[in-house]
Amino acid sequence: MGIEEKAGDLGVITTSLEYVVNWGRTNAMWPLLFGLACCAIEMMGAQSANYDLSRFGMEINRASPRQADLMIVAGRVSRKMAPVVRRLYDQMSDPKWVIAMGDCAACGGIFNNYAIVQGVDEVVPVDVYVAGCPPRPEALIHGIMLLHEKVKREKISGKKEDPIRLSQPLIQVDVAKK
Ligand code: SF4
Repeated sequence: MGIEEKAGDLGVITTSLEYVVNWGRTNAMWPLLFGLACCAIEMMGAQSANYDLSRFGMEINRASPRQADLMIVAGRVSRKMAPVVRRLYDQMSDPKWVIAMGDCAACGGIFNNYAIVQGVDEVVPVDVYVAGCPPRPEALIHGIMLLHEKVKREKISGKKEDPIRLSQPLIQVDVAKK
């Protein structure tokens, strides 16, 4: 049975090329298999059955930067690691996006010292900052959804939007009730 018999007369659909391209980009973002510190554990948690990143078409973390278009910088970036992060970014296919996951990736976090890069935006352009130490998987997923919205607004030939800063924790524990 063909799609016509199942769905009936679909008629004519009109849309813009930009919409279709951005829809395709947001539904098949492949993250780079890459974690730097403790935040990476939460990133792995986001891939688990409880949180199910597969529903965004991004269950496969690519081991090769040439097959990835999303870099999630999960953890602190040491000065020694910074050139490696940049090289991986340069090897990723275009168009590509970056999420800075956690306070360390965003601004160095508690590591205000000479050995840690004070924000991965010194090394690669960041699209979304997800705050937290570490951010929970829900916060990362929220950041990914904001990135999807951002990509949908992008013009194919236009310049990129300013970064999104996700600063409020999604889950707030009411200590007074405990
Ligand atoms: S933000 Fe916190 S959890 Fe994440 S890498 Fe830094 S110290 Fe570890």
